[in-house]
Amino acid sequence: MRPASHTAFISHPDCLLHEMDFYHPESPARLKAIEDELSASGLMDKLRRYQAPLATIGQLERVHAQEHIARLQAAASRAASGGFVYLDPDTAMNSHSLQAAYRAAGAVVLATDLVIGGAVENAFCSIRPPGHHAERGYPMGFCLFNNIAVAVAHALETHALERVVVVDFDVHHGNGTEDIFQHDPRVMMVSTFQHPFYPYSGIAGRSERMVNIPLPAGSNGKVFRKAVDEFWLPALERFEPQMLFVSAGFDAHADDELASLNLVEDDYAWVTEKIKEVACAYAGKRIVSVLEGGYALAALGRSVAAHIKVLMKR
Ligand SMILES: [Zn+2]
Repeated sequence: MRPASHTAFISHPDCLLHEMDFYHPESPARLKAIEDELSASGLMDKLRRYQAPLATIGQLERVHAQEHIARLQAAASRAASGGFVYLDPDTAMNSHSLQAAYRAAGAVVLATDLVIGGAVENAFCSIRPPGHHAERGYPMGFCLFNNIAVAVAHALETHALERVVVVDFDVHHGNGTEDIFQHDPRVMMVSTFQHPFYPYSGIAGRSERMVNIPLPAGSNGKVFRKAVDEFWLPALERFEPQMLFVSAGFDAHADDELASLNLVEDDYAWVTEKIKEVACAYAGKRIVSVLEGGYALAALGRSVAAHIKVLMKR
C-alpha cells in the first residue's frame, strides 16, 4: 500500500455556483480547469480530499468589521431574487455568492486545523471567490472575504502561533492582507506584484514585515526569482515563521491576459520549493496555500499542478 499523501486538497461544489456576471474572468471554469489538470496528470488520486465547511461569523469577525459582513449579507438578500448585485465595478454577487464566500474562508480555516493538527503537512484550497484584495471593511477586486487573513487570524488566536508569514505571488498586490495585518507584529507578508498596476498599493505600506517587491511590466521568471532570493528569503530567515500561508495567484503567468508579467510553470514550481525549504527549516513543514487569481484556464491548471506537485514531494 502506498503511504497516505501528506497534502490536502480542499474545495466545495458551492464555489462553482458563485458568478459575478456573464463572461467575468473570475469564473467557475477556473476551478474546473484545475480539477481537470490534476485528474489528467494523476495527481488528484494522490491528494487527500476534503469538502470545505462554512466559516463562522466569529471567524470572519476576527479580520472583518461587522458592517462589512452585514453589507455582504444585505447584498446577498438583494441577489436572492436573481441577477447580479454589484459591490464595485469588478465585484458582484449572485444568489450563491455568500455561501461560496463562507465556504472559501471555511476551507482555509479547515486547512489550518488539518496542518497544525498534523493530519497533513500542507494543503491547497481550490476555492473562489478569492480573497487577498478584501480589506477589513471593504470587498473589492473580485474578493468578498479575505480568506487567507481569516485563516491566519485563526492560527494566531485558536492555535496561539506567534510568527506567521503570508507569501503572495499573485500579480496584484494583496492590499487587503496588508490592510488587515500591517500593524500586527505576529504577521510578516512577503509579496511580488506588477507595479504600477491594480490596486496601486504595496509601496506606501512597506516595512520590515511588509516585504512588498514591485516588478515592472514585462518582468520574467529571472527577475521574479532574483526578487525572491534577494528580498523574501533573508526576511523569512530573520523572522523564523512557525507556519507559512500562500496567496497562490497564478495571474503573473505569461499567458494571462489580465496582466503583463511573464512567469511560467517552472517559476511556480521553483518558488514552491523555496517556500518548502523555509517551512522545513523553521515551521515544521506547515504550509497552507490558497488560490487567488489566475485567469488563463490552461495555464492556471498547469501552474496549480506544478505548485501542488512540489507540495506533495517527500
Ligand atoms: Zn490577481
